[in-house]
Amino acid sequence: MKILMTASEAVPFAKTGGLADVATALSRALEQDGHDITLVMPHYPQLLPHGSRQRFQIEPIGDEFTVPVGPRKSSGSFLKARLPDSNIQVILVDQPDYFDRPSPYVYENIPYEDNCERFVFFSRAIVAAIKQFGPFDIVHANDWQTGLLPALIDIEARKHSPEIRRIGTVFTIHNLAFQGRFWHWDMVLTGLDWKYFNWKQMEFFGDLNLLKTGIVFADMVTTVSPTYAREIQTPDFGWGLDPALSGRGNSLVGILNGVDTEVWHPEVDRFIKVNYTADDVAEKKPICKADLQKAVGLQQKPDVPIIAMISRMSQQKGFDLLQKAGDRLLSNDAQFVFLGTGERPFEQFVKELAQTHPGRVASMIRFDEELAHKIEAGSDLFLMPSEFEPCGLNQMYSMLYGTVPLVHAVGGLADSVVPMTGDTLREGTATGFSFQRYSCEAFLEAFEAALRTYRDKETWLELQKNGMLQDLSWSNSARNYVQVYQRALEKHTPEV
Ligand code: ADP
Repeated sequence: MKILMTASEAVPFAKTGGLADVATALSRALEQDGHDITLVMPHYPQLLPHGSRQRFQIEPIGDEFTVPVGPRKSSGSFLKARLPDSNIQVILVDQPDYFDRPSPYVYENIPYEDNCERFVFFSRAIVAAIKQFGPFDIVHANDWQTGLLPALIDIEARKHSPEIRRIGTVFTIHNLAFQGRFWHWDMVLTGLDWKYFNWKQMEFFGDLNLLKTGIVFADMVTTVSPTYAREIQTPDFGWGLDPALSGRGNSLVGILNGVDTEVWHPEVDRFIKVNYTADDVAEKKPICKADLQKAVGLQQKPDVPIIAMISRMSQQKGFDLLQKAGDRLLSNDAQFVFLGTGERPFEQFVKELAQTHPGRVASMIRFDEELAHKIEAGSDLFLMPSEFEPCGLNQMYSMLYGTVPLVHAVGGLADSVVPMTGDTLREGTATGFSFQRYSCEAFLEAFEAALRTYRDKETWLELQKNGMLQDLSWSNSARNYVQVYQRALEKHTPEV
């Protein structure tokens, strides 16, 4: 199949969260499965890693294009880039006014005022790319930034070209909390008729909602875990979009993300002190632990467990629980490592913990890919007490690194971590700890159970090995996406 993957971020060109990992890793897995993949994203020159122009062979391709953005016309051009070690063609949409900025969506935590305009432009630029670089069988849109795209294809583009008429569209929701919701006059920017601004299509409580637009107009809708697919059809997790989602019936499918094991695997990881496998984790992981303690300024104590979090610091990720549980967590003989950025009060909280517990708590308020790898390799227990979690990647990275995850049993966390019980230990399936009710008590109970188990070296090693030996690679997920693509295509195949 010829697939156009579209996303507002993708590693190694730009990353703010899991979407960037998924866009690239899924593309790679599909390519390895024999599909022809083009990945299109904005060109953010300020976010490209140093030396990218040579490394990724970035150069112009195709013709300049002009698209309507509301009453105005905006022009842009395309650059091509090579995704290392693959035949995936990357197309970067170049428009400096919109994308030559210090970060993709926000500045100092405040969204850019013209975000709607920027991503309407991006969606229209993708239609221009389809015309220049197509034909494609499938166009795969991701999150609100490309939510308009399925509507543009369905309402406008199919009419003009027989090739586009047959394209199947798939829309993936990576996080329902981010909806691309804008005031109603921004409907004008989309260039679509006001008749689509109704509660069943693009309108949401008086506003324009680009995530809803994608959900309604795509042939197939997916989200990043089976449990999250069920949860978001309920009022508790649906953020008001539960009716639109349940309205899609069996065209809404949950597919658990995989892990890019060429980047995230202790056997090949190039950032960690020594590489290791399930066979020598007991001997080698302590070397990574000592290295981490040195790197972040923790006391060199091999027998004290290191508890880690790498995360956006937000309510979603459970930082309110962490704040409430702080004193009791710290009353245990354990060290803590926090890496992340986010809401100021949470950043302040972990910074203060580090100041008041030097040598026991290390807090790094920054984005640091290399340190994230060292933390996965050097820690013992990884916390993900998220209030909700569409999929989550770090609990899966943790399992592969022999770092036992402790999670709130929701969304992808419930689908990927098997909590330790007598039965799961006997069956050899236990991989971590979880708690059901989102409360400080339930979290602390699970935490204390994890610390008790840590002192039982034999059981702990079993948990580590069970996690490390799982197949969390993308190949299974990619096969599930191909089935979804086939179903999307069938919707436009004339019956014979
Ligand atoms: P999100 O909801 O933020 O997308 P995920 O768990 O799905 O959460 O993915 C987050 C990704 O971003 C993970 O790969 C995680 O390691 C990474 N990450 C988050 N914050 C940081 C940071 N400060 N430094 C390095 N990596 C980070």
